[in-house]
Amino acid sequence: MNGKSDKTKIKSMTFEELEAFVESLGEKKFRAKQVFEWMHKGVRSFEEMTNLPKAFREKLAEAADLEALETETLQVSKKDGTRKYLFRLPDGQFVESVLMKYSYGNTVCISTQAGCRMGCAFCASCEGGLIRNLTAGEILDQVLAVSRDMGRKVDHVVVMGVGEPFDNYENLSRFLANIHDPRGFGMSFRSITVSTCGILPGIERFADEFPQVTLAISLHAPNAQIRGRLMPVDRTYPYEKLLETARKYVKKTNKRITFEYILIDGVNDSPQQAEELAGTLKGILCHINLIPFNEVLGRGFSSARPERVRRFQEVLQKNGYEATVRRELGSDIDGACGQLRAKKI
Ligand code: SF4
Repeated sequence: MNGKSDKTKIKSMTFEELEAFVESLGEKKFRAKQVFEWMHKGVRSFEEMTNLPKAFREKLAEAADLEALETETLQVSKKDGTRKYLFRLPDGQFVESVLMKYSYGNTVCISTQAGCRMGCAFCASCEGGLIRNLTAGEILDQVLAVSRDMGRKVDHVVVMGVGEPFDNYENLSRFLANIHDPRGFGMSFRSITVSTCGILPGIERFADEFPQVTLAISLHAPNAQIRGRLMPVDRTYPYEKLLETARKYVKKTNKRITFEYILIDGVNDSPQQAEELAGTLKGILCHINLIPFNEVLGRGFSSARPERVRRFQEVLQKNGYEATVRRELGSDIDGACGQLRAKKI
């Protein structure tokens, strides 16, 4: 686990580990349930855990770290209410989370790493490379901090912010187990989506361990050549192998995959490329999420024109795919993933 404090990071612990920790402090096991409940309500200090004896609260404050993130900045879109948080970690690093409001509920997009080493050509998050993995508690506290700020629990979580989740698999899986635990936040696995750029061993493990969580794959290309140009991960886990793994995933879980596809002007947005993509994905139970590129300064790419986005979608739909265009949220704030953090590094 990372971070500056030497205290025990209890928000990164599973319930059973917390029980053992509470016992190691000379307390009864049942106290763990109370602490777990308070943590998932988003309290920021042990003082607030008012049904615990004062002596125990003091003991906890000495021995344990609540991993509560500090809000460095908050931007709120005047257009659609999107809220973009920049959180400061204890060691001075920053992570981003975004709260988006949809008709079906509030969704928070969270980060799993400070920085990222995947180097996608269109992404602001990888500027500066990977600094470190977030602990499970730091991943979780993004959801708790946003819920606290909103005054109610968020409805959905998408793990699509800064970082590659499967490059931090152990902490991701602890986070998933903890947020799902009915003794705490109790979020249904079906309300969570995890997005990978295509780490194949991660996809295979995820199919076994979290078959109810929705998997999204950042594809962004109709063929290996374009994917190779945009995403260095393709050198390690090539396009064809990725599709093969996606097929196996669907077979094993019976779940539909979401393919994310950023439309970049003149790179991957032609009707012919939409036809090619339709052919490539044939036989894979999937949903295609088209994302108009959010321009990042200095990357040399621009957003596909709206008529090309529409045409691309039409071609996919004509071929029988469910293809949606992601509504642009927070266009009046630093909307693209990593932009807020990039200003700090
Ligand atoms: S798009 Fe995702 S995987 Fe790629 S560099 Fe950015 S954060 Fe990393």
